[in-house]
Amino acid sequence: MHLRELSRALVELVLPADCAGCGDPVAPWCPRCLPRVRGRSRPDLPDGPDVLAVGRYTGPLRTALLRYKERGRRDLAAPLAALLAPPLDEILDELRNELRGELRPTPVRPPPAVTWLLPAPSRAAAARARGGDHVLRLCRVLAAGRPDLRVARPLRLAARARDSVGLDAVQRAENLAGSLRIRPRELPSPGAAAVLVDDVITTGATLRSCRAALTAAGVHADFALVLCDATSRSGPW
Ligand SMILES: [Zn+2]
Repeated sequence: MHLRELSRALVELVLPADCAGCGDPVAPWCPRCLPRVRGRSRPDLPDGPDVLAVGRYTGPLRTALLRYKERGRRDLAAPLAALLAPPLDEILDELRNELRGELRPTPVRPPPAVTWLLPAPSRAAAARARGGDHVLRLCRVLAAGRPDLRVARPLRLAARARDSVGLDAVQRAENLAGSLRIRPRELPSPGAAAVLVDDVITTGATLRSCRAALTAAGVHADFALVLCDATSRSGPW
């Protein structure tokens, strides 16, 4: 193994020694930050999946995500994935109830034993610059040791996808929809239970486009799990 790869692998295994939210020497969250990163936010996304977020894009949650995503703190994947686990379990409950409802009154069939986590895609160049796809890593940590979860990456962004900085909501949606591609070999089988995962929801354009692309390919992702809700409450929808 190349030395750089080896050191990367070791970083993935090391748990943080400081608070993910403020850097105080108490891991994974200090007593001041912990109550502020435990919560729920349900941004309303018409024509999109039902979204459940850990919290608003503010305070220690926002700081922890930025440290993880932009400042090379890959060791924060574990505490951030731990925050995603309870809302994911709520989604899995809703998914099971929904499937049971759909199956009634036909003969009882058990709901699927496996749910697929599908990370929203990052631009390849951005992922390279960050030392890997940060949402994919969160999904893998979430699914580690859980036989009911699997991770697949059927969505990717075409190389020509423009950076969304400076685009308004409509331009952003068009840019995304035109650049999303499906990797057929990575698709869960049709009818499989699937949950989209992303780090931040802003306009909702990403999750809406991802869901539409998956639906066109026969996979229904009716729920999305997100770390931070950055939607404006008085937004376009
Ligand atoms: Zn703290």
